[in-house]
Amino acid sequence: GANRAKNVLILMSDTGGGHRASAEAIKDAFRIEFGDDYRVFVKDLCKDHAGWPLNNMESSYKFMVKHVQLWKVAFHGTSPRWVHNFYLAALASFYAKKVEAGLKKYKPDIIISVHPLMQHIPLWVLKWQGLQNRVVFATVITDLNTCHPTWFHADVNRCYCPSEEVAKRAELDDLKTSQIRVFGLPIRPSFCRAVLVKDDLRKELELDPELPAVLLMGGGEGMGPVKKTAKALGDVLFDKELGKPIGQLVVICGRNKTLSSSLQALEWKMPIKIRGFETQMEKWMGACDCIITKAGPGTIAEALIRGLPIILNDFIPGQEVGNVPYVVDNGAGVFSKSPKETAELVAHWFGPGSEDRKRMSENALKLAQPEAVFDIVRDIHELSQEQGVKAQISSSLTSSFFIPSPEA
Ligand code: UDP
Repeated sequence: GANRAKNVLILMSDTGGGHRASAEAIKDAFRIEFGDDYRVFVKDLCKDHAGWPLNNMESSYKFMVKHVQLWKVAFHGTSPRWVHNFYLAALASFYAKKVEAGLKKYKPDIIISVHPLMQHIPLWVLKWQGLQNRVVFATVITDLNTCHPTWFHADVNRCYCPSEEVAKRAELDDLKTSQIRVFGLPIRPSFCRAVLVKDDLRKELELDPELPAVLLMGGGEGMGPVKKTAKALGDVLFDKELGKPIGQLVVICGRNKTLSSSLQALEWKMPIKIRGFETQMEKWMGACDCIITKAGPGTIAEALIRGLPIILNDFIPGQEVGNVPYVVDNGAGVFSKSPKETAELVAHWFGPGSEDRKRMSENALKLAQPEAVFDIVRDIHELSQEQGVKAQISSSLTSSFFIPSPEA
């Protein structure tokens, strides 16, 4: 019979820009690859359907990254399996009803979690409802190396790991090799398939056509030592003897309005663009020659695709630590917490060290996985078709709970 469109529910939480960005990337890739065959809903399930503390995840995350010690304790304190299982068991029984209502509303054929805390509860609800064999459940991990163990759940159909390091951790945590796939971090298709010409981008974004450009940012929230680094760049990117700039600066502050207004208030000797939250990051990255950022996985993966050498100047303790060696050991960038050192390296790259910059740029391109998001949705499509065959057989035996049975 005719195939009905399948529902895909992507579970995320707006903790930082990364999880949402991955969720949107997967949604876009489904549309590009399969058109109307899939209806994709991106939902912050906890925010919409559960009570405190899960609906508070976003604000407690913002609070905790500001209070690094607390975040360290929370991350490591919940790591041992028995602790998080007990904690999540308590939460799950309390919120299961609301989660169930969420699942009922979207009637998913496929659930994709892009969040470390969204495996256990939805999987348990599916089990209680006897639906685990009808719904494909996939986890897409968005940390490049050291990820929290709650990402791993043995009952998933697939666990997509962005790197071999993460895949190793998944295996140590009892996932079978048949459950694991390593394609890379999903990046918005507009990003990975864009054909961009630097000269055109510079014109469009009103940047200086000749001067080398450094992009400075700190994730969706504009975190890390952005202001100090901008000031240090201001010192080194202006050649006092020649009385002219040797480079230009683009600062993307994300949602950090305090940061952008305090930068706007300063005087600059070199060309500078100070921007808030940008929706076309691929253009800004494509127009620049290197990037300074905290170790956010999304920003790193995007910079690699654009072949930008990366200076990492900060990381969120816990999940972002491992992103540092991922970049540094692969020769795609360096780590420095010192704004002065960072600025001097940029000046070096823009002057006598241009060969170093080129070598790092080549290494970045080697690490890049622009096709990852398409590999992921194609694999999920195959899983779903296998599942569909199974469901068709069993639906003739039992009536379905909320998934409309496939037409005969
Ligand atoms: N981003 C964006 N516009 C901005 C700032 C950031 O689209 O103005 C995107 C960025 O391209 C990346 C994501 O937000 O995809 C940030 O994710 P990352 O994992 O680097 O850090 P997070 O913000 O999640 O801590």
